[in-house]
Amino acid sequence: MGNRRLMGFLLSCLMLSIPMAGCASEIENILGENWGVPGGLALACLRDDAYRELVIEIDHAPDYNPESSTVSLLKERLGQVCDKPDGIRIVMNEVQFSETTSWTASKVREIGHDTMDSPPQTSVLRWHVIMPQGKYSDESVLGVAVDASTIALFSDSIDDATSIFNPRISAEDIENSVMVHEFGHLLGLVNLVYTSPADHEDSEHPGHSNNEDSVMYWAVETVSISTWFSGDLPTEFDQDDLDDMEGMKSGELATSDQLWRP
Ligand SMILES: [Zn+2]
Repeated sequence: MGNRRLMGFLLSCLMLSIPMAGCASEIENILGENWGVPGGLALACLRDDAYRELVIEIDHAPDYNPESSTVSLLKERLGQVCDKPDGIRIVMNEVQFSETTSWTASKVREIGHDTMDSPPQTSVLRWHVIMPQGKYSDESVLGVAVDASTIALFSDSIDDATSIFNPRISAEDIENSVMVHEFGHLLGLVNLVYTSPADHEDSEHPGHSNNEDSVMYWAVETVSISTWFSGDLPTEFDQDDLDDMEGMKSGELATSDQLWRP
């Protein structure tokens, strides 16, 4: 497209005083830097055609680093579903985020993209987690997946999600489950970029599982998590989740919104 049209678009953004976040994402789309939707790089992860290695970049505020159990569990779960012959590598950085109190999806995108070491699609597939200080604008949210490669986990809220009513569940347990859950969204679960032949999407919580044994169960990313589980928290994809991913990978299930296709 010509510069004139882009200039017109920029001017209309300025003149109409549309919030800049909205304008910025529109401009990114026009310039071809499309960050996609959660699930938009599902095929890139599930298949090995284009990306033989997956890099998970975890940028955390000082003292907000993930538990080592979270990192190893994440690697294990992704290794079970993503075909990555050259492996899954974790890169961890300590970052001073420009926001330390209240987060929105657009702030997670903007600051997440700024702090990312390199883009999602180079010779490797790179997915990005930020673990900042502060909470999401909706304080009941423990984690979010905001586009095809960007996740935020809110440790301050995860600490709040522990409950005296269920002391068996620790903040570490919750972090384990929320981390895998958010990556499940990047893998397209549930029904984000395909339609499952199985009836396992919770009708009241779109994009989530109705099975409390699945890590994609809807309550996993909410602050009330401890009250929904009498035993251990789920940390695994259930059979329906696994079947959906297998179907996407083989092409048996049609996928939409993919930033990469075989
Ligand atoms: Zn979720």
